[in-house]
Amino acid sequence: MCYKKAMKKIVVLTSGGDSPGMNAALRAVVRTGSYYGIEVWAANEGYLGLVREELHLLGPRDVSGLTGKGGTILRSSRCQEFFDPQVRAKVIKFLYEQNVDGLVVIGGDGSFRGAKLLFEEGGPKCIGIPGTIDNDIVGTEYTIGFDTACNNAIAAVDKLRDTAYSNSKYFVIEVMGQRAGFIALSVGIATGAEFIIVPEFPMTTPEIAQKINNFHQKKQSLIMIVAEAGNPGRSVEMVKQLSTLTPFEYRNCILGHIQRGGNPTMIDRDIASKMGFDAVKALLDGQTNKMVAQEKGRLVLVDFPKIEQGYRKIENQDLIGFTNILSDMSRI
Ligand code: ADP
Repeated sequence: MCYKKAMKKIVVLTSGGDSPGMNAALRAVVRTGSYYGIEVWAANEGYLGLVREELHLLGPRDVSGLTGKGGTILRSSRCQEFFDPQVRAKVIKFLYEQNVDGLVVIGGDGSFRGAKLLFEEGGPKCIGIPGTIDNDIVGTEYTIGFDTACNNAIAAVDKLRDTAYSNSKYFVIEVMGQRAGFIALSVGIATGAEFIIVPEFPMTTPEIAQKINNFHQKKQSLIMIVAEAGNPGRSVEMVKQLSTLTPFEYRNCILGHIQRGGNPTMIDRDIASKMGFDAVKALLDGQTNKMVAQEKGRLVLVDFPKIEQGYRKIENQDLIGFTNILSDMSRI
């Protein structure tokens, strides 16, 4: 099999966890492809669509009005079969028979690993667009969906702040962020949270309790933003422990999947559209195994992250420290 021909037909799919802005990226891929005379076909439900050998052609009109639509109209999935090299070999044969020259994968680093393997095993050239609300992919400062997820969480925390203040409650609010605390950090800063607990700089509940007990004066109400850190629901246990270790009344709130839904913000629509455009241009330029990434505020192409690089993490502890000053915790 030989993929040295000009880029005439590409496939786009969304894979892994969905994130707001994926539709804007899809629209950009389809319309850029159409502009450059490339047929853009889509596979539904991530790699599952390829395994099922089901592709459908998308024209510019099919993606009308998508910039502001949350989720992904292609649907997404975690496709276990795709880990099997024999299944991928079948997919490669199918894509070859369909004359597919390129693949655009909108998803997370797991999805990019699948795309890379597909190419290395003889499949078409592939370009990734990073889409995950956690913003934790190595090699890019931004992943599509992060801003919307943070804004969804901020809207909820503002509401909780009202009731926390009015009823003198201490709230432990759990946000997403499996491996990194970017959502917790940005939401915590934006809502003036008194505590921000992220996996990069963990604190035990007794340590948190000790800080609360040492407040220089009693806080009327308090907001603590906690990243779920691979342990969704952890705020339930935290609240139980804090209630026994300190003299205050606590409530927990798990924001959960609400963070992922809804209309993407301006930032996600903007970056997703630009990344979609750049992904198709990269394929036209003959690039492969690359992700469109944001570096120092500009969009660039970088190699797919390697598994040993792990995940992007908050590196600067001062980012947490300064929030203590802003939330008047500096004197505790
Ligand atoms: P994300 O892309 O959001 O990181 P996952 O890690 O769950 O999400 O990956 C999404 C899908 O990508 C998987 O369900 C699978 O189909 C494919 N994939 C992930 N890792 C690999 C891999 N090592 N080999 C082949 N396919 C993979």
